[in-house]
Amino acid sequence: MNQPSDDHQPPIPIPWDTLVVASSDGIMLLDPDDRVLMANPAAAQIFGDGLVGSPLASIFPPAMLSPDGVTHIRLGFADFTIRRSPLRDQGSLLMIQAVPQADAEQQRDLHEQKLYDLLMIISSSLDIPTILERVAQHAMELIGADASSIPLYDAERDTISTERLINLPDDPTIRAMHTRSVGLVWDLVDTQRPLMINNYQGEARAIPALVNAGVSALIAAPIAGVDRTLFGVLALYRLGPDRGFTRHDLEQLVVIGRQTGIAIQNARLYEEALREAERRHLLYLASIEIGAALDPENLYHAIHRAAKRLMICDSFTIALYEQERQEIAYVYIADHQGRWPSRQIPIGRGLLGHIIRHGVSLRLLNSDPEIEEIFGAERLHDDADLTRSMLATVLHTGEQIVGAITVQAHGPRAYTSNDLDVLETLASTAAIAVQNARLFARIQEMATTDALTQVPNRRHFFDVATYEIERTDRYKRPLSLIMFDIDSFKAVNDTYGHLAGDEVLREVAQRCCDDLRDIDTVARFGGEEFVALLPETSYEQAILVAQRLRTRICARPVESDAGPITVTISIGADSYDDVFAGSLGDLIDRADQALYVAKNSGRNKVVGFRSLIFGKTASFQASADLKNKAKLL
Ligand code: GH3
Ligand code: MG
Ligand code: MG
Repeated sequence: MNQPSDDHQPPIPIPWDTLVVASSDGIMLLDPDDRVLMANPAAAQIFGDGLVGSPLASIFPPAMLSPDGVTHIRLGFADFTIRRSPLRDQGSLLMIQAVPQADAEQQRDLHEQKLYDLLMIISSSLDIPTILERVAQHAMELIGADASSIPLYDAERDTISTERLINLPDDPTIRAMHTRSVGLVWDLVDTQRPLMINNYQGEARAIPALVNAGVSALIAAPIAGVDRTLFGVLALYRLGPDRGFTRHDLEQLVVIGRQTGIAIQNARLYEEALREAERRHLLYLASIEIGAALDPENLYHAIHRAAKRLMICDSFTIALYEQERQEIAYVYIADHQGRWPSRQIPIGRGLLGHIIRHGVSLRLLNSDPEIEEIFGAERLHDDADLTRSMLATVLHTGEQIVGAITVQAHGPRAYTSNDLDVLETLASTAAIAVQNARLFARIQEMATTDALTQVPNRRHFFDVATYEIERTDRYKRPLSLIMFDIDSFKAVNDTYGHLAGDEVLREVAQRCCDDLRDIDTVARFGGEEFVALLPETSYEQAILVAQRLRTRICARPVESDAGPITVTISIGADSYDDVFAGSLGDLIDRADQALYVAKNSGRNKVVGFRSLIFGKTASFQASADLKNKAKLL
């Protein structure tokens, strides 16, 4: 009987999985496209986690590996032997064996020491340029790269610009990558994940200038703060053919990038603290200067000066809210060309009208015609068209909005939110100062203006007249004075009532102001008596002016609530010149004497003082004869 032989037992299946997992050598199974299908823990220890699914090229440069057979490579600080065995129809198997090295431990220690030193160097500075300089140089040396760059990311402007380049051509396309579509670095900005490209020459999105510079491989890691604020990218390059980076290189770069990010964050906080202290000091100085200015013009200049010291200020405006008239008065408009005329704009129009009505602040980073259209912004000065950035905030006293201020810059995105905070602080100081200046001006006006007629009062008249006499003395210019009194005004009061009398006084003052020039000063001298000071006016001209004024005042009745009232005035006049000078009091006295004569000789007439002295027909030219006669008086 033939019994089946025990020799033909089925073969015992080899536990590949167990063997592979247990192997102290790195093992990776690759598909025909050289993509990792399987990797054991030893392989992960050498190359890092997440190998499965990765293309071999992303782990180490395939150029390093001969298509089959045995290769020796150095990864970081250790040497490895890699054996590639093709598998039938289905890719290949890689066996990675560490080459025993007597000094491997020592080398590892040395390398770690170098990394540690670099991290210390990075952290030891609070100056950002110094940090970047050191990182670019030392990271390149530590990892053994040929070139490096540190593109910096500006989150507010969403731009990348590269300040530091080592061993790379100084090419504008490498330095600035403003458009998001250009450069692989934007991927990194968006994902904050490190990047390794070992066939840069074949990379579709490669920067031509880098390709031309012979870049064959690059690794890049984010430079970000602990809160993942991205400052920039640390990039290392290998130049020349077939030279690539390993995952280990990339891991080290990530550590360096992270540490650089922390160092930059510290440096920025430090810089910010310094800047903040400086700004606080400037604001403090500004508040003293602004608080001390009571004259509106001085105040506006002080606010403008402060704004210029605190931020970019290509043009500057102060607008005040005129509540009664529902208008915005642009009282201060300044740009590079200087001051522009003040403007009044109804509250419903214009950008500042919007801001004042809603009590808001505004930060425009790239103003365009659309925005101007929305707010119906006015073109207040020539430079206005150049404005791209703007900050605007209200002048708020705590109780009410008194106006608004704006700073403008020609560049886009010129202002940070911190700038707006600073402007708001400045505005709160400025608002109170504006309010004080307005109150001061109001009190001054009350002290100098006659409440009934709104013309200067007697006291203010003396101030102006004293100044004019001094000017006349200095420049030898003629100056005349007329004094007039309403005829039989008591009868007006008696007939029409005191209120109608007030109306007559107001109207007479108004007609007088309308008739005289702006440089003339009409003042209420008391009761129904007025004076007018006429600079640059000779005696003869003054008599003519007085006659015209007398005619105009009585030309038509004053339309009072009590009915039309016709009034006449009597005028006395004289001048301050070569013929008669003396004091201001003397001049007033001479005009008063002439007025007295006008009253006593029938009223409703003009009497010149000189006619009393020289006779009606006397020539008023300052002839030598006249002068002598006058001196005898
Ligand atoms: P004459 O032609 O001589 O100047 O006669 P007159 O009546 O104008 O002169 P008089 O000095 O006798 O009277 C001046 C009047 O003016 C008396 C005073 O009550 C009146 N008066 C003074 N101030 C005011 C005022 O503010 N309002 C009113 N309604 N009357 C005033
Ligand atoms: Mg009178
Ligand atoms: Mg009088």
